[in-house]
Amino acid sequence: VFNDVAVAIRALQATGRIRRAAVIDLDVHQGNGTAAIFRGDPHVFTASVHGASNFPFRKEPGDLDLALRDGTPDGPFLDAVEIAVEAATGSIGPTGNRRPDLVVYVAGADPFEKDRLGRLAVTRAGLAERDRIVVDAARRRALPLAVVMGGGYAERVEDTVAIHLHSVRTAATLA
Ligand SMILES: [Zn+2]
Repeated sequence: VFNDVAVAIRALQATGRIRRAAVIDLDVHQGNGTAAIFRGDPHVFTASVHGASNFPFRKEPGDLDLALRDGTPDGPFLDAVEIAVEAATGSIGPTGNRRPDLVVYVAGADPFEKDRLGRLAVTRAGLAERDRIVVDAARRRALPLAVVMGGGYAERVEDTVAIHLHSVRTAATLA
C-alpha cells in the first residue's frame, strides 16, 4: 500500500518545487497514514474531518483532527470543514499566516448519508457545499490545489460517481 499523497508531496519537495504543503482530508475515515508520515514535520500541515467511531479505530494524531459522531448532518459537518480548511490554508490556527505552496484535498464520497460504511448523514447538497468551501479558500488565497478521490460505498454507485465528479468539476473551475 502506498500513500499517493505523501509520495507526491515528498517528491515535489525533493525537486524544490514546493516547500510547504497542507493536506485537507475530508474522507469519512481518518487520514491516519498521512498523519503518521508527516507528524512532527513543520512543513506539512495535516487536517482530517472524520467519523469518530469509524475505521481506523486507533487514530493517528495529525495537526488538526475533527472527529464527528455517528449521524452528523450537514450543519456541523460543514462547520468542521470550514475550521479544517481555514487552518490548513493558513488563515487561522497553528499555521498562522504561513501559506502552503500546495494544498491537497482528499475528497472522499463516504461522508454521504446513504454510504454503506460512512455512518454520517451528509447530503449530496452538503458535499457540494464542502467542495465549494475548499475550492473557494484556494481561490481566495491563490493556492495551488490538487484533488484526489477518497472512498465511496454508496448503496447506489451512481451517487458515489456523482459526488466524486462534483468535487473534480468544482476544482476545475480554478483552472
Ligand atoms: Zn473512506
